[in-house]
Amino acid sequence: MRSLLVAGNWKMNASTEQTDTLVAALSEAELTVDVAVFPPFPYLAQALAKSARSTLRIGAQNVAEHQAGAYTGEVSAAMLADIGCSMALVGHSERRTLYAETNEQVLAKTKQLLANGLTAVVCVGETLAERNAGQEQAVVGQQLALLLDQLSSFDWQQIVLAYEPVWAIGTGETATPEQAQAMHKYIRSLLQKKDEKVAETTRILYGGSVKAESAAELFAQPDIDGGLVGGASLDAAEFLAICKA
Ligand code: PEP
Repeated sequence: MRSLLVAGNWKMNASTEQTDTLVAALSEAELTVDVAVFPPFPYLAQALAKSARSTLRIGAQNVAEHQAGAYTGEVSAAMLADIGCSMALVGHSERRTLYAETNEQVLAKTKQLLANGLTAVVCVGETLAERNAGQEQAVVGQQLALLLDQLSSFDWQQIVLAYEPVWAIGTGETATPEQAQAMHKYIRSLLQKKDEKVAETTRILYGGSVKAESAAELFAQPDIDGGLVGGASLDAAEFLAICKA
């Protein structure tokens, strides 16, 4: 049985004050699902300290593909582990689109996280043009191919997938529960080809303009195991309502 995970991606938003307010609200709430937030790097230590006595998990939005060394501006998985982070996002569509992140880099970053004991939340998803061309499964399959090929069933215990159709991120347009379930089922069928146990245990989150009003129906789908929430995760009341959905 997979437990639900609701994760909040703050993107490049927050301040020390906002971090205090949001993390305090989530730490004090009585939650029946796993909850994680992904603040920008400068606020990670603050969020970790503020949530120390709660079950709230804190993760980074990105990680270096290399272990250490002359990579100015990068943050390694070892550093994230060192300060107490337990998760990081990999391959968010904004990184794939705006920073040309490739599937090879997504694999390298995922390997760094796993080697340092962190959970990788790997994001996949098609653009509107790709969906309109009937290519959505082929695109998502391609994004997952290297991970399925190169990582062991043991490695997969530390991976969470997030299906985030690019056309639904930050647009206010959510995939219908049927569209999302169809893709999640397809992703699970790919996992099944690798290993039945991996397919049964890997959590697949849906992301793309999730709001409190749309969350319950999405999360009720058999292959949807929670959500990755962007904009709505910056509002404590809205995000908590999503967690309770
Ligand atoms: C995201 O950034 O991962 C996301 C899903 O954003 P939003 O909820 O704002 O669409």
